[in-house]
Amino acid sequence: MGVDVILDGKALAREVRSRVKEKSLLFAERAGRRPLLRVVLVGEDPASIVYVRNKKSACDEAGIDCLDTILPGNVDTNAVATLVDDLNCDDKVDGILVQMPLPPQIDAARITEMIDPAKDVDGFTPWNVGLLSTGRASLLPCTPRGILTLLKHYSIETRGRNICVVGRSSIVGRPLANLLLASTDATVDVCNSHTRDLKAHVLQADIVVSAAGCPGLIRADMVREGTVVVDVGINRIPDPSRKSGYRLVGDCDFEALKGKAAAITPVPGGIGPMTVASLVENVLIAASIRAGVDIGAL
Ligand code: NAD
Repeated sequence: MGVDVILDGKALAREVRSRVKEKSLLFAERAGRRPLLRVVLVGEDPASIVYVRNKKSACDEAGIDCLDTILPGNVDTNAVATLVDDLNCDDKVDGILVQMPLPPQIDAARITEMIDPAKDVDGFTPWNVGLLSTGRASLLPCTPRGILTLLKHYSIETRGRNICVVGRSSIVGRPLANLLLASTDATVDVCNSHTRDLKAHVLQADIVVSAAGCPGLIRADMVREGTVVVDVGINRIPDPSRKSGYRLVGDCDFEALKGKAAAITPVPGGIGPMTVASLVENVLIAASIRAGVDIGAL
Protein backbone atom coordinates (compact mmCIF):
# COMPACT_ATOMS: atom_id res chain seq x y z
CA MET A 1 0.00 0.00 0.00
CA GLY A 2 1.33 3.45 -0.85
CA VAL A 3 1.03 6.57 1.23
CA ASP A 4 -2.46 8.07 1.18
CA VAL A 5 -1.70 11.53 2.42
CA ILE A 6 1.25 13.86 2.55
CA LEU A 7 0.46 16.06 5.54
CA ASP A 8 1.09 19.45 3.99
CA GLY A 9 2.17 21.70 6.84
CA LYS A 10 3.18 24.47 4.49
CA ALA A 11 -0.32 24.85 3.00
CA LEU A 12 -2.05 24.46 6.37
CA ALA A 13 0.27 27.05 7.94
CA ARG A 14 -0.81 29.49 5.21
CA GLU A 15 -4.45 28.86 6.14
CA VAL A 16 -3.69 29.38 9.83
CA ARG A 17 -1.93 32.68 9.13
CA SER A 18 -4.82 33.93 7.05
CA ARG A 19 -7.32 32.94 9.77
CA VAL A 20 -5.15 34.79 12.31
CA LYS A 21 -5.06 37.81 10.01
CA GLU A 22 -8.87 38.06 9.96
CA LYS A 23 -8.96 37.87 13.75
CA SER A 24 -6.05 40.32 14.10
CA LEU A 25 -8.04 42.86 12.09
CA LEU A 26 -10.99 42.30 14.42
CA PHE A 27 -8.66 42.70 17.40
CA ALA A 28 -7.24 45.94 15.99
CA GLU A 29 -10.76 47.29 15.42
CA ARG A 30 -11.80 46.52 18.97
CA ALA A 31 -8.55 47.27 20.83
CA GLY A 32 -7.48 50.28 18.75
CA ARG A 33 -4.05 48.77 18.08
CA ARG A 34 -2.45 45.75 16.41
CA PRO A 35 -1.05 42.83 18.40
CA LEU A 36 2.68 43.30 19.10
CA LEU A 37 5.40 40.67 19.37
CA ARG A 38 8.87 41.63 20.61
CA VAL A 39 11.71 39.31 19.69
CA VAL A 40 15.04 39.33 21.51
CA LEU A 41 18.04 37.95 19.66
CA VAL A 42 21.47 37.75 21.27
CA GLY A 43 24.44 37.45 18.92
CA GLU A 44 24.51 36.51 15.28
CA ASP A 45 23.91 32.78 15.10
CA PRO A 46 23.03 32.31 11.38
CA ALA A 47 20.26 29.74 12.04
CA SER A 48 18.67 32.01 14.67
CA ILE A 49 18.75 34.95 12.26
CA VAL A 50 16.84 32.86 9.68
CA TYR A 51 14.31 31.70 12.31
CA VAL A 52 13.70 35.29 13.44
CA ARG A 53 13.28 36.43 9.83
CA ASN A 54 10.68 33.69 9.25
CA LYS A 55 8.81 34.63 12.41
CA LYS A 56 8.76 38.32 11.40
CA SER A 57 7.42 37.55 7.96
CA ALA A 58 4.73 35.22 9.39
CA CYS A 59 3.67 38.03 11.76
CA ASP A 60 3.56 40.44 8.88
CA GLU A 61 1.28 38.13 6.92
CA ALA A 62 -0.94 37.63 9.96
CA GLY A 63 -1.51 41.33 10.72
CA ILE A 64 0.76 41.30 13.77
CA ASP A 65 3.50 43.86 14.49
CA CYS A 66 6.87 42.30 15.23
CA LEU A 67 9.90 44.25 16.44
CA ASP A 68 13.25 42.71 17.17
CA THR A 69 16.08 43.83 19.40
CA ILE A 70 19.50 42.40 18.67
CA LEU A 71 21.97 42.43 21.55
CA PRO A 72 25.69 41.84 20.99
CA GLY A 73 26.79 38.21 21.48
CA ASN A 74 29.02 39.09 24.46
CA VAL A 75 26.38 40.64 26.77
CA ASP A 76 25.77 39.09 30.19
CA THR A 77 22.62 37.67 31.76
CA ASN A 78 21.78 40.97 33.47
CA ALA A 79 21.68 42.86 30.17
CA VAL A 80 19.15 40.40 28.73
CA ALA A 81 17.20 40.37 32.01
CA THR A 82 16.94 44.18 31.99
CA LEU A 83 15.51 44.12 28.47
CA VAL A 84 13.01 41.37 29.33
CA ASP A 85 11.99 43.35 32.42
CA ASP A 86 11.31 46.43 30.27
CA LEU A 87 9.23 44.37 27.85
CA ASN A 88 7.30 42.77 30.74
CA CYS A 89 6.41 46.28 31.97
CA ASP A 90 5.49 47.70 28.57
CA ASP A 91 1.71 47.45 28.27
CA LYS A 92 1.82 47.67 24.46
CA VAL A 93 3.82 44.41 24.24
CA ASP A 94 1.64 41.29 23.91
CA GLY A 95 4.27 38.64 23.32
CA ILE A 96 7.95 38.23 24.23
CA LEU A 97 10.12 35.71 22.46
CA VAL A 98 13.76 35.25 23.42
CA GLN A 99 15.36 33.35 20.55
CA MET A 100 17.18 30.24 21.74
CA PRO A 101 19.90 29.10 21.99
CA LEU A 102 21.42 31.96 23.99
CA PRO A 103 25.22 32.28 24.12
CA PRO A 104 26.74 30.04 26.83
CA GLN A 105 27.56 32.87 29.29
CA ILE A 106 23.85 33.65 29.64
CA ASP A 107 21.65 31.86 32.17
CA ALA A 108 18.90 30.81 29.74
CA ALA A 109 16.71 29.24 32.44
CA ARG A 110 16.71 32.48 34.47
CA ILE A 111 15.73 34.49 31.39
CA THR A 112 12.92 32.08 30.46
CA GLU A 113 11.60 32.03 34.02
CA MET A 114 11.36 35.82 34.24
CA ILE A 115 9.14 36.32 31.16
CA ASP A 116 5.63 37.43 32.15
CA PRO A 117 3.53 34.23 31.66
CA ALA A 118 0.80 36.38 30.03
CA LYS A 119 3.31 37.33 27.30
CA ASP A 120 5.04 33.94 27.11
CA VAL A 121 4.22 33.07 23.49
CA ASP A 122 6.69 30.15 23.52
CA GLY A 123 4.85 28.56 26.45
CA PHE A 124 8.15 27.79 28.21
CA THR A 125 7.71 29.58 31.57
CA PRO A 126 7.15 27.30 34.58
CA TRP A 127 3.66 28.76 35.02
CA ASN A 128 2.58 27.86 31.48
CA VAL A 129 4.33 24.47 31.64
CA GLY A 130 2.25 23.77 34.76
CA LEU A 131 -0.97 24.93 33.11
CA LEU A 132 -0.19 22.71 30.12
CA SER A 133 0.00 19.60 32.25
CA THR A 134 -3.28 20.47 33.97
CA GLY A 135 -4.89 20.95 30.55
CA ARG A 136 -5.70 24.63 31.21
CA ALA A 137 -3.02 26.43 29.19
CA SER A 138 -3.92 29.15 26.69
CA LEU A 139 -0.38 29.67 25.42
CA LEU A 140 0.79 26.26 24.20
CA PRO A 141 4.38 25.62 23.06
CA CYS A 142 4.45 26.25 19.32
CA THR A 143 5.66 22.92 17.92
CA PRO A 144 3.23 20.78 19.98
CA ARG A 145 0.39 23.19 19.11
CA GLY A 146 1.30 22.91 15.43
CA ILE A 147 1.32 19.11 15.56
CA LEU A 148 -2.12 18.99 17.18
CA THR A 149 -3.52 21.49 14.67
CA LEU A 150 -2.21 19.34 11.83
CA LEU A 151 -3.63 16.07 13.24
CA LYS A 152 -6.98 17.77 13.76
CA HIS A 153 -7.04 19.34 10.31
CA TYR A 154 -6.45 15.96 8.65
CA SER A 155 -9.05 14.30 10.95
CA ILE A 156 -6.49 11.86 12.31
CA GLU A 157 -8.18 9.97 15.13
CA THR A 158 -6.30 10.03 18.44
CA ARG A 159 -8.89 8.50 20.78
CA GLY A 160 -7.71 5.09 21.98
CA ARG A 161 -4.71 5.24 19.62
CA ASN A 162 -1.11 4.54 20.61
CA ILE A 163 1.06 7.59 20.05
CA CYS A 164 4.80 7.13 20.33
CA VAL A 165 6.74 10.36 20.91
CA VAL A 166 10.45 9.91 20.21
CA GLY A 167 12.37 12.58 22.15
CA ARG A 168 11.66 14.21 25.50
CA SER A 169 13.17 17.68 25.20
CA SER A 170 11.51 20.53 27.07
CA ILE A 171 10.59 22.28 23.82
CA VAL A 172 9.07 19.42 21.83
CA GLY A 173 8.82 15.87 23.20
CA ARG A 174 7.79 16.54 26.79
CA PRO A 175 5.28 19.36 26.17
CA LEU A 176 3.82 17.37 23.27
CA ALA A 177 3.37 14.33 25.50
CA ASN A 178 1.73 16.52 28.18
CA LEU A 179 -0.54 18.14 25.63
CA LEU A 180 -1.58 14.76 24.22
CA LEU A 181 -2.25 13.43 27.73
CA ALA A 182 -4.28 16.51 28.65
CA SER A 183 -6.26 17.02 25.46
CA THR A 184 -6.67 13.64 23.76
CA ASP A 185 -7.68 10.12 24.76
CA ALA A 186 -4.56 8.59 23.25
CA THR A 187 -2.15 6.25 25.03
CA VAL A 188 1.16 8.08 25.02
CA ASP A 189 4.59 6.46 25.02
CA VAL A 190 7.65 8.73 25.31
CA CYS A 191 11.07 7.44 24.23
CA ASN A 192 14.55 8.89 24.65
CA SER A 193 18.12 8.08 23.64
CA HIS A 194 18.37 5.46 26.43
CA THR A 195 15.20 3.61 25.42
CA ARG A 196 15.89 -0.09 25.00
CA ASP A 197 14.56 -1.39 21.70
CA LEU A 198 13.14 1.77 20.14
CA LYS A 199 11.79 -0.34 17.28
CA ALA A 200 9.54 -2.32 19.64
CA HIS A 201 8.01 0.93 20.92
CA VAL A 202 7.52 2.46 17.48
CA LEU A 203 5.97 -0.76 16.15
CA GLN A 204 3.20 -0.39 18.73
CA ALA A 205 2.33 3.09 17.47
CA ASP A 206 -0.67 4.15 15.42
CA ILE A 207 0.94 7.60 15.29
CA VAL A 208 4.68 8.16 15.67
CA VAL A 209 6.10 11.63 16.26
CA SER A 210 9.86 11.82 15.98
CA ALA A 211 11.67 14.78 17.55
CA ALA A 212 15.12 13.35 18.15
CA GLY A 213 17.32 15.24 15.69
CA CYS A 214 18.74 12.01 14.20
CA PRO A 215 18.51 11.56 10.42
CA GLY A 216 17.39 8.06 9.41
CA LEU A 217 16.27 7.16 12.95
CA ILE A 218 12.78 5.96 11.97
CA ARG A 219 13.02 3.32 9.25
CA ALA A 220 10.27 1.56 7.31
CA ASP A 221 10.82 -1.71 9.21
CA MET A 222 9.99 0.13 12.46
CA VAL A 223 6.42 1.09 11.55
CA ARG A 224 3.32 -0.92 10.80
CA GLU A 225 1.34 -0.41 7.59
CA GLY A 226 -1.11 2.42 8.08
CA THR A 227 0.83 4.26 10.79
CA VAL A 228 0.75 8.07 10.72
CA VAL A 229 4.28 9.52 10.78
CA VAL A 230 4.95 13.04 12.03
CA ASP A 231 8.55 14.09 11.50
CA VAL A 232 9.65 17.03 13.65
CA GLY A 233 13.39 16.58 13.09
CA ILE A 234 15.28 19.19 11.10
CA ASN A 235 18.77 17.93 10.27
CA ARG A 236 21.38 19.34 7.91
CA ILE A 237 23.17 16.68 5.91
CA PRO A 238 26.01 17.30 3.46
CA ASP A 239 24.91 17.51 -0.17
CA PRO A 240 27.62 18.61 -2.62
CA SER A 241 25.01 18.95 -5.41
CA ARG A 242 23.50 21.95 -3.59
CA LYS A 243 24.94 25.42 -3.68
CA SER A 244 24.69 25.59 0.09
CA GLY A 245 26.53 22.26 0.39
CA TYR A 246 23.77 20.73 2.51
CA ARG A 247 20.09 19.79 2.53
CA LEU A 248 17.51 19.48 5.25
CA VAL A 249 16.07 16.11 6.22
CA GLY A 250 13.94 14.91 9.09
CA ASP A 251 14.42 11.95 11.43
CA CYS A 252 12.37 9.57 9.28
CA ASP A 253 13.28 7.72 6.11
CA PHE A 254 10.66 9.58 4.08
CA GLU A 255 11.10 7.71 0.78
CA ALA A 256 10.84 4.26 2.36
CA LEU A 257 8.04 5.24 4.74
CA LYS A 258 5.98 6.74 1.92
CA GLY A 259 5.29 3.17 0.79
CA LYS A 260 3.99 2.09 4.19
CA ALA A 261 2.60 4.97 6.22
CA ALA A 262 -1.02 6.10 6.00
CA ALA A 263 0.13 9.69 6.16
CA ILE A 264 3.46 11.44 6.63
CA THR A 265 4.82 14.95 7.06
CA PRO A 266 7.61 16.05 4.71
CA VAL A 267 10.77 17.88 5.81
CA PRO A 268 10.90 20.67 4.91
CA GLY A 269 7.24 21.71 4.57
CA GLY A 270 5.71 19.78 7.48
CA ILE A 271 5.97 20.71 11.14
CA GLY A 272 8.42 23.62 10.64
CA PRO A 273 5.85 25.99 9.07
CA MET A 274 3.19 24.79 11.54
CA THR A 275 5.47 25.84 14.42
CA VAL A 276 5.78 29.38 13.07
CA ALA A 277 2.02 29.58 12.37
CA SER A 278 1.36 28.49 15.96
CA LEU A 279 3.52 31.35 17.19
CA VAL A 280 1.32 33.94 15.47
CA GLU A 281 -1.75 32.22 16.94
CA ASN A 282 -0.17 32.50 20.39
CA VAL A 283 0.58 36.21 19.93
CA LEU A 284 -3.03 36.91 18.97
CA ILE A 285 -4.34 34.83 21.89
CA ALA A 286 -2.01 36.64 24.32
CA ALA A 287 -3.12 40.02 22.91
CA SER A 288 -6.82 39.22 23.17
CA ILE A 289 -6.53 37.91 26.75
CA ARG A 290 -4.37 40.83 27.88
CA ALA A 291 -6.64 43.44 26.28
CA GLY A 292 -9.84 41.65 27.30
CA VAL A 293 -10.99 41.68 23.67
CA ASP A 294 -13.21 38.84 22.52
CA ILE A 295 -12.20 37.68 19.04
CA GLY A 296 -14.01 34.33 19.14
CA ALA A 297 -12.40 30.94 18.64
CA LEU A 298 -9.37 30.73 16.34
P1 NAD B 1 17.03 17.84 21.82
O1 NAD B 1 18.40 17.49 21.36
O2 NAD B 1 16.86 18.84 22.92
O3 NAD B 1 16.27 16.53 22.24
C1 NAD B 1 16.33 15.36 21.49
C2 NAD B 1 15.57 14.27 22.21
O4 NAD B 1 15.61 13.11 21.40
C3 NAD B 1 16.19 13.89 23.55
O5 NAD B 1 15.16 13.69 24.50
C4 NAD B 1 16.90 12.57 23.27
O6 NAD B 1 16.91 11.70 24.39
C5 NAD B 1 16.06 11.99 22.14
N1 NAD B 1 16.85 11.12 21.27
C6 NAD B 1 18.00 11.41 20.64
N2 NAD B 1 18.44 10.33 19.96
C7 NAD B 1 17.53 9.35 20.16
C8 NAD B 1 17.46 8.00 19.74
N3 NAD B 1 18.40 7.45 18.97
N4 NAD B 1 16.38 7.28 20.15
C9 NAD B 1 15.42 7.83 20.93
N5 NAD B 1 15.46 9.11 21.36
C10 NAD B 1 16.51 9.86 20.98
O7 NAD B 1 16.29 18.30 20.52
P2 NAD B 1 14.96 19.20 20.28
O8 NAD B 1 15.29 20.62 20.53
O9 NAD B 1 13.77 18.58 20.93
O10 NAD B 1 14.83 19.00 18.70
C11 NAD B 1 14.69 17.71 18.12
C12 NAD B 1 14.69 17.83 16.62
O11 NAD B 1 13.53 18.56 16.24
C13 NAD B 1 15.87 18.59 16.03
O12 NAD B 1 16.18 18.04 14.77
C14 NAD B 1 15.35 20.00 15.87
O13 NAD B 1 16.02 20.71 14.86
C15 NAD B 1 13.93 19.70 15.50
N6 NAD B 1 12.96 20.78 15.82
C16 NAD B 1 12.09 21.07 14.86
C17 NAD B 1 11.11 22.01 15.10
C18 NAD B 1 10.13 22.31 14.04
O14 NAD B 1 9.51 23.34 14.07
N7 NAD B 1 9.95 21.39 13.08
C19 NAD B 1 11.05 22.67 16.33
C20 NAD B 1 11.96 22.32 17.32
C21 NAD B 1 12.93 21.34 17.04
